[in-house]
Amino acid sequence: MFSSINVGFRLLFYRVMFSGMKVAFLPPTSPLSPDVSFVLSLLPPTLSVPLPSNLLGEVYYLSLGFAVLILPEVYRRLLTLCAIHVASIAPPYVSTVLGSFSHSDGDCLRADGAPDDVALQRGKAFAELIEKLARLFPKSSKIYDDIEGRFSDIRFFDVKKVFFPFREMAKKLSVCVVATRTDGPYLIDADGHKILDVSGSYGVNVIGYEGFKSIGNRAHKEVLNDLGPVLGPIHPDLRGALSMLSEVSGQPECSLHMSGTEAVMCATRLARFNTKKKFIVTFGAAYHGWYDAVQPGVGNERPVPDIIVLKDQSPASLRVIRARAHEIAAVLVNPLQAFTPNQPPPSDGTLIGKVRDSGVTNAREDFRNWLLKLRATCTETGVVLIYDEVYTGFRLAPGGAQEYFNVKADMICYGKALAGGMPIGAVCGPAKLMRRFDPDHPLRLCYLVGTFSAHPSIVTMTKKFLEDVKKIDYQKKHDEYDLWVGLMNKELEERGHPVRLAHFASVWLFQYTEPGRFHWLMQYYLRSRMVNLAWVGTGRLSFSLDFNQTHLSTLRESILLACQDMQDGGWWWTSGPDHSSVIKKMVNKEIAWSLTVSVGRKIRAMLGLGRAGEGKTVKAV
Ligand code: PMP
Repeated sequence: MFSSINVGFRLLFYRVMFSGMKVAFLPPTSPLSPDVSFVLSLLPPTLSVPLPSNLLGEVYYLSLGFAVLILPEVYRRLLTLCAIHVASIAPPYVSTVLGSFSHSDGDCLRADGAPDDVALQRGKAFAELIEKLARLFPKSSKIYDDIEGRFSDIRFFDVKKVFFPFREMAKKLSVCVVATRTDGPYLIDADGHKILDVSGSYGVNVIGYEGFKSIGNRAHKEVLNDLGPVLGPIHPDLRGALSMLSEVSGQPECSLHMSGTEAVMCATRLARFNTKKKFIVTFGAAYHGWYDAVQPGVGNERPVPDIIVLKDQSPASLRVIRARAHEIAAVLVNPLQAFTPNQPPPSDGTLIGKVRDSGVTNAREDFRNWLLKLRATCTETGVVLIYDEVYTGFRLAPGGAQEYFNVKADMICYGKALAGGMPIGAVCGPAKLMRRFDPDHPLRLCYLVGTFSAHPSIVTMTKKFLEDVKKIDYQKKHDEYDLWVGLMNKELEERGHPVRLAHFASVWLFQYTEPGRFHWLMQYYLRSRMVNLAWVGTGRLSFSLDFNQTHLSTLRESILLACQDMQDGGWWWTSGPDHSSVIKKMVNKEIAWSLTVSVGRKIRAMLGLGRAGEGKTVKAV
């Protein structure tokens, strides 16, 4: 009897083993990959194992069968582990490990080990800066004071981008811009100043405010005056807008929404629905909007079980896509990653202890090669490739990253500039991926709607924007920015400032050749020199394509003056060649103190002596 069960089990085992491996390793459309052959070669030569004749032998075969069954999954998990972007798997409680504290003013000024005379010089410069900003922007500051506490949205005047022990210090500086008019790339603020805007309006301002105003005025006149905000019936301009979007994206269908976040929500949901697969792959620290399902890790308290965040531009990531293709619905790429691979735009917190390298050198060729490999892997395995072109669409080229890198995607998300400055999100793709009904199952549908989809004035502005954008000579503008950045860097080096600019088409940022604890002050000095940045931070900036030589030379002057202010204030003082390690030691001490604060608060809370979340100002180490 045992021997017949034995044979039965063995047959089952071989069957399970082979079908398990077939399902696990071989995505339906792929030939046997080298990885699979490698793993198969490692398997024990089970076929030649003698028949067991006792119960122990049955257990042995069952365990072996089970082990072989789970082996492919173990292999896939290991592959994924090697390619995962670590920050994305940080559990939500990681952000509660550090306890908040603020440096006293005196400690701030010595936070890099500066001696008393330098601290004194800095203290004086800081007092002058507070006084200067208050004198320059009294009306803007008054409006800010009036709304503070009532406007919850984090904006460019938020101080949270500054490394936390410096927040109390940063709060003393007011940088709110209250804009009332624009004149080319200048903002006219509530105090009557002309402020050069390099914020790019979060990336929306591609063609320049004057261009957007012209589109808006025409659309307003044609649509809002005559029709009003009628929703449901469609506007005739929808026809033109859709055919131009098709032309730009190379895709026949389009779905319209109200923001880039919604466009990404739509694309990922459609990809899951139409492929019947669970996972979405993203890369590095790429931003895809604030939808929590595409934002795992710190900043999102919800665990996200159906997203895999892999290392950017890594062959290991391609291996994971191949091995797990049967469960990956889509790969979502933000082509702006070419600018800062594996990194978000630099906040001032990231400028403290190390020299920030944007990785922009050879970005175009390197990233194009990466996109080509990704494209080939997705085609080979039947995984949908989605470009999140919310930022890059219409900024790199009229046809966005698809045109700039000459690599096509299966679905493309747009937003920002597309509606001439009005809120929009759009997804373009082929009919088989844009489908919201399952032809085989009438009750299975992908519920995707939105009250404001195809709003008439937005549709008209989209059409006009796409018409206007065709007329712009992008290459000429990008060449001008190339030249300007090169000259700026030469001049900054000659003047001995530890600042350099890096750029990618019309997107640019500040980098530092030396680490420093006060680089975050540069933006305040720039503001005092009438430059508007994206936020309180020297993060990602953009030129609108109407920036001409006069604007560029005004910007040059402001940057050089702000650098001189930093120099004169003693903010770039260094202790010598090992300044970087001095800074690191001080930052480590602060982190240790912050941990102590956190533990102390928890113990106090446990003893009933206070609340765990109490955020008092504590004198620093
Ligand atoms: N994707 C990318 C690449 C973005 O840059 C952004 C916005 N910065 C979004 C999505 C989200 O767009 P929105 O802010 O319009 O929701």
